[in-house]
Amino acid sequence: MVELHIHLDGAIKPETILYYGRKRGIALPADTAEELQAIIGIDKPLSLPGFLAKFEYYMPTIAGCREAVKRIAYEFVEMKAKEGVVYVEVRYSPHLLANSKVDPIPWNQAEGDLTPDEVVALVSQGLQEGERDFGVKVRSILCCMRHQPNWSPEVVELCKKYRHQTVVAMDLAGDETMEGSSLFPGHVKAYEEAVRSGIHRTVHAGEVGSPEVVREAVDTLKTERLGHGYRTLEDEALYARLRQENMHFEVCPWSSYLTGAWKLGTEHAVVRFKHDQANYSLNTDDPLVFKSTLETDYQMTKEGMDFTEEEFKRLNINAAKSSFLPEEEKEALLDLLYDAYEMPPPAAAGLHP
Ligand SMILES: [Zn+2]
Repeated sequence: MVELHIHLDGAIKPETILYYGRKRGIALPADTAEELQAIIGIDKPLSLPGFLAKFEYYMPTIAGCREAVKRIAYEFVEMKAKEGVVYVEVRYSPHLLANSKVDPIPWNQAEGDLTPDEVVALVSQGLQEGERDFGVKVRSILCCMRHQPNWSPEVVELCKKYRHQTVVAMDLAGDETMEGSSLFPGHVKAYEEAVRSGIHRTVHAGEVGSPEVVREAVDTLKTERLGHGYRTLEDEALYARLRQENMHFEVCPWSSYLTGAWKLGTEHAVVRFKHDQANYSLNTDDPLVFKSTLETDYQMTKEGMDFTEEEFKRLNINAAKSSFLPEEEKEALLDLLYDAYEMPPPAAAGLHP
């Protein structure tokens, strides 16, 4: 399996949070991994702000600590290896893990000496050591945050600086219902610079935000993929255009249920995507908070929406094709999948877009 949409800070082991809570003397609302998971995790649909509030519990135990930041990256790769993932792109905001040269300092931390730049260096090291030890190919995506356009210029510079150390792209995350946030000059300029420097781009849009947010992501921010993108379907003309352009939708089924982005009893966007044989992938988003693994998302679509093995193969091949790997590495990943699926690779090389 290939996974393109997962947040590093939403994929931490509860044991690791407890460990650093104790070590650093940061109070947590639980003493065991099970209790902690129960408090951080969600079972029933929650609003997006309610969901984002979960991070307040545990981010202070990891942020600002060099050892913790590197360790969550390393353990992330181990986690994905156990799930049978062969390639993953993991995203995070370097600023939300820092406690120095970041304004404001997140999570009510005291000022320290871990900068966003060093966070990227540490995460990249952790990921690379994980790649080596667990045999999963990993790349990373650095997130801009909608409410902090002042961070975005540095995000794109860090993408450039660390582009040969796992970083392949930039994302825009956070609350997309924040009025006009796609058009904040800080974000727009950073995305322009990404285009200029050959940094790949994705944007969270159309999860809870309107089709207009999707349009801004595509037209203004020149995104190459859409994080979620479900509400694109409310604008048939826009959807038809994006289908034409072979836009990739990073679908997170279980996440969309628990964040309330998808309402039970209505048709899930991914059913339409399947019906239209659109370009999309299945992803976990924040497995710590959603108490899930990639298997949860595959089971949900298989049992609740009649997805077949055939469709799973097709969507994983599309995920590989829409990954942000350089062409040659993409070909190698596709060969790996064709092999695993016992499918003949397309005869003509030209068939790979
Ligand atoms: Zn996300």
